Amino acid sequence: MRRHRTEQYPDPLESALRRRVIAASFAIVVMVLAHIVHPFAQSPDARAIDGALEIGGAVVALLLLLLGGPQSIRALRQRREEAERAHAERKQINHLFRMTEMLQSANGYADANAVLGATIDSLLAGFGGALYVFNNSRDRLELSASWHWPDAETLRPMLAPAQCWALKRGKPHINADSRGALCCEHHLGSATVLELPMTAHGEIQGMLKIATDLPDAAAELTRIQPLATAIADAMSLAVSNIALREKLRTQALRDPLTGLYNRRYMEDALGRYASLTERSGTHLSVIMIDLDHFKKLNDEFGHAAGDSVLRETAATILGALRTSDVACRYGGEELLVILPECRLDEAVAKAEILRERIEALSAMHEAKISASFGVAAMPESTRAVADLLGMADAALYQAKEGGRNRVVAAPSRETPMLPLAAE
Ligand code: GH3
Ligand code: MG
Ligand code: MG
Repeated sequence: MRRHRTEQYPDPLESALRRRVIAASFAIVVMVLAHIVHPFAQSPDARAIDGALEIGGAVVALLLLLLGGPQSIRALRQRREEAERAHAERKQINHLFRMTEMLQSANGYADANAVLGATIDSLLAGFGGALYVFNNSRDRLELSASWHWPDAETLRPMLAPAQCWALKRGKPHINADSRGALCCEHHLGSATVLELPMTAHGEIQGMLKIATDLPDAAAELTRIQPLATAIADAMSLAVSNIALREKLRTQALRDPLTGLYNRRYMEDALGRYASLTERSGTHLSVIMIDLDHFKKLNDEFGHAAGDSVLRETAATILGALRTSDVACRYGGEELLVILPECRLDEAVAKAEILRERIEALSAMHEAKISASFGVAAMPESTRAVADLLGMADAALYQAKEGGRNRVVAAPSRETPMLPLAAE
């Protein structure tokens, strides 16, 4: 038959108490028997022995009570504290399980940060937290979120891995303001900070920082380090999964050579912007760009030189646009820019700037580089988004026909097609 767990492993405190109770009971029984027998004792010797037994029993019972009582109370208090600690640890483990489970359903950094913030609030109440994750090129860590940081303005938006001991060693590090302590270059402010590198799939994914300005901060941070490490471990897997998902999404949206959005994304974006434009009654322009005699450039300088011109053209275009504008590689050496809330004349002016900047790339490459531009806008050129690209393309064709390296606007619904800049 299986024995009960407590029978298999007897509790030492319970055994000691039981032994003490048995001994005290035995002493009391001896004392009571001696008391009962006392009137029947005949000889003075028997009465003396009986008296001694009576007093001895009382003394032993009293001693056991006096010595054992406080010790038992201390032991019971210690037992209660241990039980409370075990209960708190169980709660922490349950919370960490829940955190891990919720992180698995996180859709992006915002979701994961909300879960992490709630966990820090609940398990590390009174401490500040900050999460840094690597940027796409993995040369810097960017501040992703922070909670209750003691001295918010000391939190840097970016960290270089070379400035950080935790990242260089791949191990937890405490940055304290005290003399003699080894401090990271990026450390600012008076709070003491525990930095935990977050590793998953054999790679550092980011860093979790826990801060406090309590007087014995370093000791407090050392105390919570195992729990903070468990939180960082759970979070690192989530960060790695989210980064992977973002990478796949970017690959599906961007053209690998130029880094511009691809045609599929452009079609989605154009549809979205067009319906916004119709609803809000504003303007939407598109600029279609085609590099001139690009086949000849490839033939003369090689395909790699052609690729490099394409990359620089893309960077030149991006450098001249607003963040709300969308630049895409339409295909081959054809590019397209979508300019929300931009009138036709403004788009033509922007195209002229792009034309000049692309032409200026010629000096660097010691080759003639130029592009032709076709511009169309809603509602000036057409009210139907389905016609917008066709009109820009027709204007681009006109620019090619007109001698290339120029900008042509699609005809307004009232006026004919208008060449604006000549070679
Ligand atoms: P036009 O002025 O009439 O536009 O002449 P073009 O030579 O630019 O036009 P065409 O359409 O005849 O040729 C486009 C060339 O662009 C052909 C193709 O090899 C080149 N091209 C397309 N995609 C890439 C690319 O990714 N890299 C390189 N290096 N060349 C490319
Ligand atoms: Mg072409
Ligand atoms: Mg071309």
